[in-house]
Amino acid sequence: MTCKSANIVYIQSLGHSGSTLLSRLFNLHPNAFSMGSFRELEIDHADDIDTLCGCGKHPSECVVWRRVFEHFVERGQGCFRSSTGGLGRQQFLRSIRVIDSLARTTSSTHICELTHDGRRVQGYAERIPERTVMIHFVRDPRAIYRSYLRLINPPTKLGRFSLAVKIARFYFRRNMYTLFLKRKYCKRGLRYIRIRYEDLCDAPDQQMHDVFRTCKLEPLTVSTAYQNEVNHIIGGNVNRFKPLGSVRDERKFMFEFSRSLFSFVTLLNLPMILAFRYPVLKTTNA
Ligand SMILES: [Zn+2]
Repeated sequence: MTCKSANIVYIQSLGHSGSTLLSRLFNLHPNAFSMGSFRELEIDHADDIDTLCGCGKHPSECVVWRRVFEHFVERGQGCFRSSTGGLGRQQFLRSIRVIDSLARTTSSTHICELTHDGRRVQGYAERIPERTVMIHFVRDPRAIYRSYLRLINPPTKLGRFSLAVKIARFYFRRNMYTLFLKRKYCKRGLRYIRIRYEDLCDAPDQQMHDVFRTCKLEPLTVSTAYQNEVNHIIGGNVNRFKPLGSVRDERKFMFEFSRSLFSFVTLLNLPMILAFRYPVLKTTNA
């Protein structure tokens, strides 16, 4: 039943970190398939999904997902339901079934998941560490703040302040937890790599080369392949796909900050900014 060769490549990141971009680059590999987020599959039947697949179709009409759902509906067990952020025994077994079904359907050896429930990866690391790769994907916390700020746009200074504090706390906790997972499970076979969003935008080929090597996949030059390729990612910002050139422009983000806001958010996030070697102060060579 269980496909022995299917590996789980888990993108461990916060929202608004560019994980869909990484997922799409990973998906370019002929032996890899990026599935997107399990959170979007919290359904009993494929018809319940109100999100579109990356191919532009409803999942029940998508050539890949339709076959996966058929597999589950046949067995009368629904597809997947995650109620807590973690990965209990039932949820683990169901996740593995979905992943194995995807691996068979797409003839892939590596299935990439990017659910932002940070605890899910622990379920894999604990039970099948030798089949799990954790990509610890980080982005400058100030850029994440800016991204949420655009989305939520609190009208008052106090609102912006509390948003910044909330994100800083979450950023710190999640990343410390991820480092804890690395420490605990790498000696049991979990493979780990840390990638920064900014480096990925600057040098996608080099970063993806490292990712593929960590996954024990053949190297692949992604920049020439990164066009409007078809993907079947569920969830994420697949519809906001941008060509790589314009993504690269986003590295200018932090220089648009007003000086006071910039230094305030920097102070809030200082431990993680230092840990991930982001520039603390404004630099001029942007
Ligand atoms: Zn599709």
